[in-house]
Amino acid sequence: MDGCLEASLSPLCIPQYVLGCSGRRMPLLGFGTAASPPVGSQLTKTAILQAIELGYRHFDTASLYGTEQPLGEAILEAIAVGLIKSRDELFITSKLWCSDAHGELVLPALQRSLKNLRLEYLDLYLIHWPVSSKPGIYEFPIKREDFLAMDFKAVWKAMEDCQRLGLTKSIGVSNFSCKKLGDILAFAKIPPAVNQVELNPLWQQKKLREFCKANGILLTAYAPLGAQGTIWGSNRVLECELLKEIAKQKGKTVAQICLRWAYEQGIGILVKSFNKDRMKSNLEIFNWSLSQEDVKKINDIPQSRLCSGQDYISKYGPFNTTQELWDGEI
Ligand code: NAP
Repeated sequence: MDGCLEASLSPLCIPQYVLGCSGRRMPLLGFGTAASPPVGSQLTKTAILQAIELGYRHFDTASLYGTEQPLGEAILEAIAVGLIKSRDELFITSKLWCSDAHGELVLPALQRSLKNLRLEYLDLYLIHWPVSSKPGIYEFPIKREDFLAMDFKAVWKAMEDCQRLGLTKSIGVSNFSCKKLGDILAFAKIPPAVNQVELNPLWQQKKLREFCKANGILLTAYAPLGAQGTIWGSNRVLECELLKEIAKQKGKTVAQICLRWAYEQGIGILVKSFNKDRMKSNLEIFNWSLSQEDVKKINDIPQSRLCSGQDYISKYGPFNTTQELWDGEI
């Protein structure tokens, strides 16, 4: 895969990808911090420390998740106890929430995230969803009447300014379709380095993968296991009979089959587990491979989204239907 190289920092040698524009190295397997239902700061911090100890070096948070603060505390403690020498050994992603997705609010939002994280810079800052909402209101789900169309030009320019100021090494988007990415690319001075979307064997995003590859954008998977147990996901991936069959034959878990498959597709992956055994087994995917036959079987699985994006649809607009949100990619 273009831009991929072996890790020098991670004890487990998680392969890394050199992001376009910034040249920053992103570990291709990262740790998600969004728990559903939320578990509180102390448990989050403990899980993150365990993850650092096990070898995770890439952490995904967002102002929405309420995990920036515990992540910041875990980083300080990891340095204090010698798990890592400095923050530079980590790759930290955070995201701009919809109510801050207004040109003049982007920089203050990033500064707040940095304060929560007690960091001087992020490695990656993403627009969380391609929609804005009324400024000053931090709520989820967003009230239907509070949605607003995003001024992509103004917001993206502000994101570019954040990178120029050195407050984030790279910028990108999340939950963007090919069409919406194309809209950004049409005027971007700094193109998005990453698009973070739902991606797993049941929703493989083949069209978006092609588009991102052609445009030098790293597609990164959230819900790679289908986000079982969360309000946005389901158990359909981990309960898929074909995946269970392949896992049994190979002596792996279904989760490992999903993660290995995603890795072999040349994308980034974010997986969340706050359970130490599962955190560890989710990392054990780099010293074996799937057979061509298994990959073909997985690639032929009938496709449907698990995370519909229904929470971002409003009769008041800008997206009246999921068709409009995903530009038909459903
Ligand atoms: P996920 O990683 O596919 O699934 C997480 C769920 O699977 C948790 O309930 C976890 O429970 C369980 N799990 C983890 N490893 C397992 C294993 N080996 N066997 C069985 N169950 C396992 O889904 P996700 O959390 O939605 O996605 C990962 C990260 O992506 C999030 O944490 C967040 O950082 C990011 N994300 C971004 C967006 C976005 O809009 N950009 C949306 C959703 C998520 P335990 O903790 O109990 O193990």
